[in-house]
Amino acid sequence: MRNMSNIPLSSARISALCGSAAREIVIDVVTETGSTNADLLARVEQLPPRQCLLALSQTAGRGRSGRSWLSSSEGSLTFSLAWKFRRPLHQLLGLPLAVGVALAETMASFDIAAQLKWPNDVLLDGKKLAGVLIESTAARDQGVWAIIGIGLNVTMPDALAVQIGQPAAQMDGAVTQDRALLLARLLDALAVAMNLFEDQGFAAFQSRWNALHAHQGKAVVIVDQGKTLHEGVACGVDANGLLLLEGSAGRITVMAGDVSLRAVAEH
Ligand code: ATP
Repeated sequence: MRNMSNIPLSSARISALCGSAAREIVIDVVTETGSTNADLLARVEQLPPRQCLLALSQTAGRGRSGRSWLSSSEGSLTFSLAWKFRRPLHQLLGLPLAVGVALAETMASFDIAAQLKWPNDVLLDGKKLAGVLIESTAARDQGVWAIIGIGLNVTMPDALAVQIGQPAAQMDGAVTQDRALLLARLLDALAVAMNLFEDQGFAAFQSRWNALHAHQGKAVVIVDQGKTLHEGVACGVDANGLLLLEGSAGRITVMAGDVSLRAVAEH
C-alpha cells in the first residue's frame, strides 16, 4: 500500500477533487497552527463567505468548554469551515447536528458505519471518530459567521491514542490512504448541508440525524461537569435539534448548552 504521507494534502489537489457543491469554498492549508477555529475567528471580517482552513498539524485544538481535541500530523484531518449565514444566531442551534449528519453520511459513502452522539460527536463502534466545535460571531453587516471546526481520526498512531487516554476510533480501508480525497468529499457534503440548513433549518435534517442516532432507545444520563441533570431513554432529536428524553416524569427536551450525554453503562 502507498504510504499516506506521500500523497499531497495541498489546497490545489483538494480543490481539484471537490465537486460542484464545494467549488465556492476557498481552501487554505497551513503546515502548523494552534487552532484553525481561532485563526478564522481572528480574521472573520476579511474572509470570503465560505473559507476552509486545514492545518497539517494542529497543536491546540479546541473542544467544548475549554476541552482539547488532540491530533497527529500523520493521521488526522483538522480543519475549520467558515460559513456566513443569513439566519440569526438563535436559529443556528441545530447546526452542529446538521454537520454531524453530513460527516456521518460521507463516512457511509466510504463504507464506514458511523453514528451520531448528541450533540456534537461522530462515533464508530461507540468510540469517538470525529468531533465538531462550532463557534459563531455576528457579522458586521448582517447575519452570522459560523466557524465549524472538525477533527477527524483517520488513523490513530499509538502515541496519540496514549495521549487521548480514552477509547477513540479510527478509519479503516482505502479511505485512509488519501486524506485530500476524503476532505474533498466532506467539503462537498458540508456545502450541500450548509445550503440546505440556510434554506430550511435543522428540520430538514431531523429524520436523517435520528436514523444515525447511536443511543436511540438506550438509557442515558445528561451530565454537567460530572453532575447528573437528567436521566431517561434517548428518543432522538426534535425539529430544533433538542434531545428527546423519556424519563420517569414523561418526555422532556434537553438543550445542548454545555451538557454531555453518557450511556448509563459507561457512567
Ligand atoms: P462529551 O460529550 O463526551 O462530554 P464533548 O463532546 O463535550 O465530550 P468535545 O469537546 O467534543 O467533547 O471533545 C473533547 C474531548 O474529546 C476531550 O476532552 C477528549 O476526551 C476527547 N478527545 C480529544 N481528542 C480526541 C481524539 N482525537 N479522538 C477521540 N477523542 C478525543
